[in-house]
Amino acid sequence: MSQSKYFGSPRLTRSKSSGVKTLASKIGALRGSKSKISNDSIGSRSSSSKSSTGSSSNDGDLRYSKSHSQEIQPETPTDSHRQIADRDMKVKRVNPQKRKQSTGIVSKIKSDEDKSSTPVKVSKTLNLKWEPLMWEEQYRHIVMMRKRRDAPVDTMGCDVISDTNAQPEVYRYQVLLSLMLSSQTKDQLTSAAMARLREHGCNIDNILNTPDELLGTLIYPVGFWKRKVEYIKKTSQILKDNYHGDIPESVSELCKLPGVGPKMSYLVMKTAWNKVTGIGVDTHVHRISNRLKWVKKPTKSPEDTRKELEDWLPRDRWEDINHLLVGFGQQICLPVKPKCSDCLNANICPYSSYRLHSKT
Ligand code: SF4
Repeated sequence: MSQSKYFGSPRLTRSKSSGVKTLASKIGALRGSKSKISNDSIGSRSSSSKSSTGSSSNDGDLRYSKSHSQEIQPETPTDSHRQIADRDMKVKRVNPQKRKQSTGIVSKIKSDEDKSSTPVKVSKTLNLKWEPLMWEEQYRHIVMMRKRRDAPVDTMGCDVISDTNAQPEVYRYQVLLSLMLSSQTKDQLTSAAMARLREHGCNIDNILNTPDELLGTLIYPVGFWKRKVEYIKKTSQILKDNYHGDIPESVSELCKLPGVGPKMSYLVMKTAWNKVTGIGVDTHVHRISNRLKWVKKPTKSPEDTRKELEDWLPRDRWEDINHLLVGFGQQICLPVKPKCSDCLNANICPYSSYRLHSKT
């Protein structure tokens, strides 16, 4: 009963047994006298397999028969089994590869999907780049307020007070010196000092041959004039020894010079070498950027402000931003008591609003 249940129909079971015998006969005939397999022994093995639910080979065939019991012809069950089994084996042999290929394709698709989906996420993340609210309108207003270009920086900037008719390396040296003098100094005083230096002869050799005391009187009263005499002398010697009488052409090299910092270096790169490599942030740019909240959070140093600005300000604005804001800071957005009532940004400036609210 359990046998029938397991192997399917009784007719198929009988046919299977006879089919095994037929197969054994054929194998025996093929192998000739060397074959030790007899029909009886095969038959008995088959019988034993039937009674014990069998060894793996026969059992496998029979199990297969059960599942295909409706398709197998009872007259030639063994041939059918073999054909189907062979095909099945081939399929089994092939399947892992197909499965591998299939898995590979699926993996590839999944991988491609992952790849195609990942950049989207990344680009979405990148698109969330921070920028100040209404900065373009504020920027446009400042451009309008600076239209006349009549601030001290417009007439006394380092590019204006250096000798554009001199040899290129001499012009670049003068740009560097004028920026060194301008630190902590009003443009008017810097311009006057540079005029005296140019009259004296503002080139590396002549400055190196000038006694410190005389150099001091020439640049006085710029801020920290004594220290600047020292810086100018040391820098001039380095330029003569290491740069063939010219100035370095990179921010990193410029920053190695005594008394030269990042702000100066970026401005030198732009004015002397005509290369915009960063934003020159001085006290005006630093102050105005914080008032307009062009920085994510209040910054303590011009260098911090530079990093913040360079993070979001479009690169094509880097060249003019210093000149624009310095003049604006000199004329309207003064360090103390800014002229908010004259400012086109009065209604959209966080600092102006803060001042109005703080009064009430
Ligand atoms: S409103 Fe006042 S604080 Fe704001 S940018 Fe104008 S001048 Fe400066």
